[in-house]
Amino acid sequence: MKIAIVNLGRIVSGDWRDPFAAGDSIVADGDRITEVGTASAAAVEAADVVIDAGGMTAIPGLIDSHVHVTFGDYTPRQRTVGFLESYLHGGVTTSISASEVHVPGRPSDPEGVKALALAAQRCFATYRPGGMKVIAGSVILEPGLTATDFKELAVKGVTLAKAGFGAVKTAYDYVPLVEDAKAAGLITTCHTGGSSIPGSGAITGDHLLAMHPHVSFHINGGPTAMPDADFERIIRESQIALQVCTAGNLRTTLLCARLAAQFEAFDRFIMGTDTPTGSGIMPLGMLYTIAHCSSLTDMAPELFICAASGSNARVYGLNSGYLVTGKAADIVLIDAPDGGTQATALAAIKNGDIAAIGGVVTAGVPRFVGRSRNTPATTRKARVVRSSVMQDFATASH
Ligand SMILES: [Zn+2]
Repeated sequence: MKIAIVNLGRIVSGDWRDPFAAGDSIVADGDRITEVGTASAAAVEAADVVIDAGGMTAIPGLIDSHVHVTFGDYTPRQRTVGFLESYLHGGVTTSISASEVHVPGRPSDPEGVKALALAAQRCFATYRPGGMKVIAGSVILEPGLTATDFKELAVKGVTLAKAGFGAVKTAYDYVPLVEDAKAAGLITTCHTGGSSIPGSGAITGDHLLAMHPHVSFHINGGPTAMPDADFERIIRESQIALQVCTAGNLRTTLLCARLAAQFEAFDRFIMGTDTPTGSGIMPLGMLYTIAHCSSLTDMAPELFICAASGSNARVYGLNSGYLVTGKAADIVLIDAPDGGTQATALAAIKNGDIAAIGGVVTAGVPRFVGRSRNTPATTRKARVVRSSVMQDFATASH
């Protein structure tokens, strides 16, 4: 399918160093973006679906880098079906598994955790709930896993490893496991802050600096924060990505954002929700964290949109997260919410309001155009002005 989105008021690129793209239109062919800027009449004419954005803002589909997926579109923790599809209506086009620890009776022996990660990876390899891409299969680091195990998983397609819920005696026992997982090419992640599972102990600055995983999961606390002094240490003494999560400590999220900007580490400031968890399912979690960071710091809203898209993509090596030719055609239309005080999506976010979503495209397919099931209505109206495909682009009314 070829699609053209025209009449955009603003385009956020996903690259925080250069956060705006010039122009008013985006063209995609199949699952890739082919043009960002000013589409020719011929390109619009050749499109199977033309969407008039009515002056809204386009942003890259959001990447939630901390989602507790299990199997299918179901969370045992909150006993909810269809949560991933619901997150898509909050602008999330890619979810990255924070490891499948919520699977009831999940195994803890090496063969068991390997099988769990591989099964999860395979189950989401082609399954897209509501159109969302899910990167699943994060092996839970448990004592007994060897360098050979990690190599085997990497060869078979698993890309992620998670420290924090294993049966280790101290968090320092993760150091050789993280080293072996990294050597096999896995992206390593580590729980940060007070324990979220009773008895698992706090993981703080000293542990992270000894392990040096690629990503400090919920560095702001999941949900309990580590000491304030450790934030500057992690930022200045490591290259660890700083993931802030919605279901954590908001004060330390803001502390981390300011320190990342101050010490020129914003490149590795990334965002996730850490849901579903005890905090619930949060379909608008990414939009809330973007609004909180934008309205409670003196930093620009587009920077946090980029932290929730392109910066996540770079850290995790994904071909999405940017509105740039050649990247995945994952596009979200946002606007000022109807009835608010602000005229544009970015002004509304800076004001502390969550953006209203007027359309979501994933893999080049419009999943809905018009009204999100979960956000307020948009001020402007996005609509399909021409279509030659058999699809109803309106939101299913349920
Ligand atoms: Zn988590």
